[in-house]
Amino acid sequence: MVAERVYIGLGANLGDRGEALLQALHRMAALPQTRLCAVSSLYSSAPVDASGPDYLNAVAALETHLAPEALLQALQALELAAGRERPYRNAPRTLDLDVLLWGPRQLATPALTVPHPRMYERAFVLLPLHELDAHLVTAAQLAAVAGQRIAVAQDARWAASAVSA
Ligand code: ATP
Ligand code: CA
Ligand code: CA
Repeated sequence: MVAERVYIGLGANLGDRGEALLQALHRMAALPQTRLCAVSSLYSSAPVDASGPDYLNAVAALETHLAPEALLQALQALELAAGRERPYRNAPRTLDLDVLLWGPRQLATPALTVPHPRMYERAFVLLPLHELDAHLVTAAQLAAVAGQRIAVAQDARWAASAVSA
């Protein structure tokens, strides 16, 4: 079976944010039955619906034969390894890994909703996703988040060491 293309949103606004994101990418690349195909530029963004320090964000494209629940569990283990705590909703965090899209699939289990239900409200998701594949985001969707503060912090070479050929 052909591996499906899965898009992961990465974010961090506590600790050594860039190091946490890069380490998460290397660890995703090392997951079984999984290839890290591409990573967006690194973006800096203001928290949405929350206070706290600015975020660093990116989106990664994977190909995986893992089942969705298995990938989510693996991502949550990486969050824990990075010291993620959940004291309250939208709290600052050392690492957040969200499943944004899973090929063309729609998933709705107790643990996983895909497409991610809030992704189209978020410039820090839509800009890096659009950078990886412009077909996945419409101009109207980009326009709807144009008021959110976000900037490119580093071009896509920041994560080149984690991407497989
Ligand atoms: P948001 O989901 O609004 O981005 P968050 O990332 O801060 O908020 P978390 O505390 O990281 O939320 O996750 C809460 C729960 O969301 C997880 O335990 C997970 O089971 C569930 N969840 C549902 N759909 C997804 C998804 N597409 N990607 C990641 N987690 C998901
Ligand atoms: Ca999130
Ligand atoms: Ca999350």
